Amino acid sequence: MAKALVLEEKGKLSLREFPVELDLGPEDVKVALRTVGVCGSDVHYYTHGKIGPFVVKEPMILGHEAAGVVVEVGDAVTDLKPGDRVCMEPGIPNPTSRASKLGIYNVDPAVTFWATPPVHGCLTPEVVHPAAFTYKLPKTVSFAEGAMVEPFAIGMQSALRARIQPGDVGVVVGAGPIGMMTALAALAGGCAKVYVADLAQPKLDIIGEYDGIETINITQQPVAQAIAEATDGWGADVVFECSGAAPAILDVPALVRPGGAIVLVGMPVEPVPMDVVSLQAKEARLETVFRYANIYDRAIALIGAGKVNLKPLISKTLPFEQSIAAFDRAAEGRPTDVKIQIEMPVA
Ligand SMILES: [Zn+2]
Repeated sequence: MAKALVLEEKGKLSLREFPVELDLGPEDVKVALRTVGVCGSDVHYYTHGKIGPFVVKEPMILGHEAAGVVVEVGDAVTDLKPGDRVCMEPGIPNPTSRASKLGIYNVDPAVTFWATPPVHGCLTPEVVHPAAFTYKLPKTVSFAEGAMVEPFAIGMQSALRARIQPGDVGVVVGAGPIGMMTALAALAGGCAKVYVADLAQPKLDIIGEYDGIETINITQQPVAQAIAEATDGWGADVVFECSGAAPAILDVPALVRPGGAIVLVGMPVEPVPMDVVSLQAKEARLETVFRYANIYDRAIALIGAGKVNLKPLISKTLPFEQSIAAFDRAAEGRPTDVKIQIEMPVA
C-alpha cells in the first residue's frame, strides 16, 4: 500500500492508501516522483468522469506528467542507475505491435497510458516504469521542467507534423496550455513569428511575453482579419488549431496560405463540419495529432539547451498533501493559470 491521489468516481477525489503495483521487471526502473503536473485530461476525468470512450468505472490514481529520481533498476537495465534524475513518458506501447514497428507507437491500439482508465497514474510517491520510456534530465533541467516535457511533447509533435520550414509564419488558435506549448515548439522549429489567438486576454498576456509571439484577441478582431492584415492577404504557412472549438475549426481554412499546412491539435467534443472546398481551393495539407512518439529526447534537448523556457508557464506549485486543492484550483480554470504542479515529498 502507498499513499495516492485517487479519483474514486466523477467529482470525488481522495488522498488515501492504495494498493500500488510496484513489481520491478528486468527492464523496468523504480522512480521516486518529485514533481507531477496537473493536466487538463486529469481534471476532465475529475469533473466529467470520462473522456470519449474512456470512462472511470473504478477508483483510479491520477497524474501522468512526471519527473523524479531513479531508486532501483531491473537486472537488464544498463543505461539508468539509482540517483539518475529522469522524466517519464506516460504511454507504454507494445514494442512488437504493428504500429510500434512503424514508429507510430502513439497510435498503437494496445498502448497503455497513465491515468487513462483503467490504467493508474503516477500521483503516488513511487512508480515502476519501463526504462525504455524513462529519460535522463540534463543538470540544467529542474524536476518542475521535467514534468513539463509531457505537455511540451504534444506541441513538439504538432510542430513536426506541420513540417515547418525556416522563416515560416505560424498561427496558433487557442491559448490553453497545449496552444502555448505548440507556439513555443513552432518557434523552436523554425517559425519566424507565431500569432496566438484567444479570447482570454490574461492567457495572451502570458504567452505574449515570449520573443517571436504576437497575440490576437478575437473579441477585438476576427483572427482571419488579423492574419490577412499581417500577411498581406496571403495567409499563414502553418496553422495549429488548438482550441477544439467548432467555430474556430470552421475558420481555419481562411487562415492558411495556398499550399500551407493545417494541424488539428485540439479535440472537439462533438463532430465538426468542415468546408472541404475551401481547403481544396488552397490545396491545404491537413494533419492530425494524437499524443506523440519519439519526441521526448528532442523536447528535453531543447529545454536543456535553453532554447525553450517553460518555467514562466508553471503558475502554482502545491505539496502532495494538498493535491485535492491543486485539482480544485485547476478545475476552476483561472485564465491566469497555465500549469499547476504538485511537489512530491522527498523520502
Ligand atoms: Zn498531460
